[in-house]
Amino acid sequence: MRLVLLGAPGAGKGTQCKGIVNRYHLLHLSSGDILRRERAAGTELGKKAQQYMDSGALVPDEIIIEMMAEAIKEAPPAGFILDGFPRTVNQAEALDQERNGEGQKIDAVLNLKIDDKVVAGRMTGRRSCPKCGAVYHIDNLKPRKAGVCDRDGTKLVQRSDDGPEVVAHRLETYHRQTEPLVEYYNDNGIVYDFDADRDPEEVKAAIFETLGSLVRT
Ligand SMILES: [Zn+2]
Repeated sequence: MRLVLLGAPGAGKGTQCKGIVNRYHLLHLSSGDILRRERAAGTELGKKAQQYMDSGALVPDEIIIEMMAEAIKEAPPAGFILDGFPRTVNQAEALDQERNGEGQKIDAVLNLKIDDKVVAGRMTGRRSCPKCGAVYHIDNLKPRKAGVCDRDGTKLVQRSDDGPEVVAHRLETYHRQTEPLVEYYNDNGIVYDFDADRDPEEVKAAIFETLGSLVRT
């Protein structure tokens, strides 16, 4: 099975990905992880990517595509799940050309849908401990004593990534990039939407049901 997982930041992509990988024994290909690995290993691609990142620029599509194409070659026969890639229609087209060359196409795009307001609530309510890194939530995962870490009593803070303006910007970027991507895959009739504003176990069950029917056909 060759899957693409889409979902806004805060939609629970990480949790669902883990469940799918365990159940179907797929290779998990996260563009963020692969980029970090290439940089750490000091490969040619990693060095090129580093140069862009050092100058504060986005890593260009060609480099990301080449990196992911290499990583996909290591997938087991069971397949893979792409996480954080493709991010643009240009990347999706390049991936399809690459895959078609080997007679393999993306089978399904799993689209975790969630209301921006819900995501914003999840993210802006997060508080973390600057000392031990523990993460809490003002509504869903409260520390025993308000505003203080359970483990070490340090005063909790809101990370700058979780501030309302940053969250709004990340959501806006996500929609701007992803909507054309969903349209692109929709033309092939392989997009499956899931309501991610539910208990993660329910979302997982819905995903497994869809993947189960794909495996049978
Ligand atoms: Zn702590």
